[in-house]
Amino acid sequence: MPSIEKDFNQIINLIQSSNKILITSHVSPDGDSIGSSLALWNFLKEQGKKPKVVMNDNVPNNLKFLKGADKIIKYDQNDNYKGYDLVIILDLNQHSRIGNLWYNLENIDCTKIVIDHHQDPKEFANFYYIDTQSSSTSEILYEMMNEWNSKFINQATAEALYVGIMTDTGSFHFDRTDSRLFQIASNLVEIGANPTQLYESVLSVNSFASLQLMGKALTNMELHFDSKFCMMPITQEDFEKSNTHPGDTEGFVSFTLSIEGTKIGALITQVPEEKIVKLSLRSKKDISIREIAVKFGGGGHNQASGANIKDTTLEIVKAQLIEYVGELLKKE
Ligand code: 5GP
Ligand code: MN
Repeated sequence: MPSIEKDFNQIINLIQSSNKILITSHVSPDGDSIGSSLALWNFLKEQGKKPKVVMNDNVPNNLKFLKGADKIIKYDQNDNYKGYDLVIILDLNQHSRIGNLWYNLENIDCTKIVIDHHQDPKEFANFYYIDTQSSSTSEILYEMMNEWNSKFINQATAEALYVGIMTDTGSFHFDRTDSRLFQIASNLVEIGANPTQLYESVLSVNSFASLQLMGKALTNMELHFDSKFCMMPITQEDFEKSNTHPGDTEGFVSFTLSIEGTKIGALITQVPEEKIVKLSLRSKKDISIREIAVKFGGGGHNQASGANIKDTTLEIVKAQLIEYVGELLKKE
């Protein structure tokens, strides 16, 4: 466990004394990882610094409109990433979440900072700012920027932060959506983030094919343990028949918890071509499913966690999951 000081001044001083700054985040980037990375990129550029965002994977189409998204550099295994003064790692707390890019960053001679809101951080960087009570990394960055100098938060930064917060709170309804978060959202709207436009750009962009996949996924749902557990499996064949891929399942898992009486929900997808099963777990407020994700080699939050399980099958994961959920519910 790394030593963690929740001290913005320490982080601000490190950033202030750096010029060329590499920003990165997790594989399969989402609204918070892209939002927080681009918010920081815009904020630092506004002050004349030279930040670059480097990601292991591509930016999802619905986030490409954010300012700076077209400048994000895709990981190149032949690049040695030399010449940076500082590396800032956002929205993750173990190096495996960075992807192969980590093996290029690991040995470069500069300070590495992690800013994140997940539990149970691992030792791999020099400095950490971790607030597990925060809804999102974007919320933490807002607080940091506000502490630093809010006049550098321009419209592009506000939009990126708003998108990170909106997506990581399920559009302002998950746990940790508190009054402070609405104050922050209000400040961001005042700076120029437009809630209607941002919701439409990020979330109202389903393809027809992905909705057809959703229809199949809904009919695949199974209830167990007196409806306390809802499981939504999606097979390789389901993807093939609808001409979709795992990236088209964004938001599906929330249906599992929308059933009355359901306490735990799981989306289990078989990643075509690869022997990987991706697990997304969700639970209602009084239950933590994080330990189950950890049993599968993953992690995350108490109410939203996940794992990417190698060399397995959908059927094996389903059976294991039923066993683990059964054990967890017995403890209730
Ligand atoms: P999602 O279900 O949206 O893919 O992921 C929910 C949360 O679970 C993420 O915020 C992330 O913290 C965590 N998570 C998802 N997949 C993995 C994984 O493979 N490893 C770890 N450690 N955490 C994961
Ligand atoms: Mn996040």
